Amino acid sequence: MNSFDLPKIDLHCHLDGSIRPQTIIDLALEQGIALPADNVAELKPHLIVPDDCPNLDEYISRFALPVAVMQTAEAIERITFELYEDAAQENVKYLEVRFGPLLHMQQGLTLDQIIDSVVKGIKKAEQQYDIHGNCILSILRTMPKDRINDVIDAGARYLNDGVVGFDLAASELPGFCHEFIPYAQYALEKGYRVTIHAGEQGVGQNVYDAIELLGAERVGHGIHITGHAEAYALVKSRNTGLETCPTSNVQTKAVERLESHPFGAFYQDQLPVTINTDNRTVSNTTMTEEVRKVMEQFDLSREDYFRIYRTSVDQAFASEAVKKHLLSFAE
Ligand SMILES: [Zn+2]
Repeated sequence: MNSFDLPKIDLHCHLDGSIRPQTIIDLALEQGIALPADNVAELKPHLIVPDDCPNLDEYISRFALPVAVMQTAEAIERITFELYEDAAQENVKYLEVRFGPLLHMQQGLTLDQIIDSVVKGIKKAEQQYDIHGNCILSILRTMPKDRINDVIDAGARYLNDGVVGFDLAASELPGFCHEFIPYAQYALEKGYRVTIHAGEQGVGQNVYDAIELLGAERVGHGIHITGHAEAYALVKSRNTGLETCPTSNVQTKAVERLESHPFGAFYQDQLPVTINTDNRTVSNTTMTEEVRKVMEQFDLSREDYFRIYRTSVDQAFASEAVKKHLLSFAE
């Protein structure tokens, strides 16, 4: 089966990890930013993790250059549009892109300008291609917490008009959820849907807490519910979406190899698993590639794929009208 031709949905994709390398070169030139290389071939090792990436921190180091060129409204809009263009050209029908607004204020952009630029990029792509999108505002757990509510306030005016979700990302410490309860609560009160990176690095309890304490309807990765019976049972009973990112999970050592990934077991046990990219550039992947890998590794049929596709529709933070459109590709 050709995974390129299948309709696809990406619910877990970071904007700063998914920039075209040539665009980084163009923007650095425009903005007078020095790069370690001036051509795509030599720049790629600075943007893409090696196959033997030792851990998540090494993985996260690949975001430094992208973030440096994402400090103007034009750059952010262009990068967003190009991501949706690339996705549309491989039959991605819906993409929820996430980004950390606080990372893009180094040159004086306001939170409103930053969020507006991403929303504009999505809308421009929606007009030109058969793709729909929304964005999720990510907070890096490693940053000071004093601006989190400002991010939530700034995004609130775009809710259900380009902005749909709230997320916590970056390195995952055991028990992190307790510190973020008031912020997640504030986001929920404003009308955000919540997804949280949890259970990526061996802490199943974090998945349990993300659902119970932070109101997460989905979790990023969630792999390590395998070793935590209560978290596993809660994911199952609440139908919490698991945003699986196969290539990234191997690169960050969340799993040793794809064959030891619990995706197949989760699918067989009817947990709501989805297939996503995480970072197109940093992980050097596409949705076509992620779907191909999962289908081959876990021996899934076309019928299995469409079951997963429908799970993605069900778990998407999209409007009912968009969901209906997305389901039309699965008939
Ligand atoms: Zn992620």
